[in-house]
Amino acid sequence: MADCIFCKIANKEIPSSIVYEDEQVVAFKDLEPQAPVHVLVIPKKHIESILALTAEDAELVAHVFTEVLPKLARDLGVAEKGFRVVANTGEEGGQSVKHLHFHLLGGRSMQWPPG
Ligand code: 5GP
Ligand code: ZN
Repeated sequence: MADCIFCKIANKEIPSSIVYEDEQVVAFKDLEPQAPVHVLVIPKKHIESILALTAEDAELVAHVFTEVLPKLARDLGVAEKGFRVVANTGEEGGQSVKHLHFHLLGGRSMQWPPG
């Protein structure tokens, strides 16, 4: 989608520190990390948010949660101690980029409730 910063990252039109990529997703380091490990997992195709997911995306979502996130958590060394996966959604959810993304945060103790 034109003017979507995460589409541009997925298409390598703007640089990012990519830590994982396959046919369906890209994972890259967050520009403003909020934890020692902070990566974003995005679908390559533009999906605005969780609210825009359809049944056709079920395989993509399963892939992210059963393969990509567990692999990244292990590879980035946070699987054992624990980590957090966040999908900020909409205005009050704190979503600033309107292209679906899952934050993977770890390497420190997380607080609850989040701010
Ligand atoms: P949100 O606030 O939508 O949940 O998360 C968007 C995230 O994207 C933020 O944590 C922000 O730091 C990150 N971000 C925004 N623009 C860029 C960028 O151009 N490159 C990278 N690597 N991260 C970005
Ligand atoms: Zn996009």
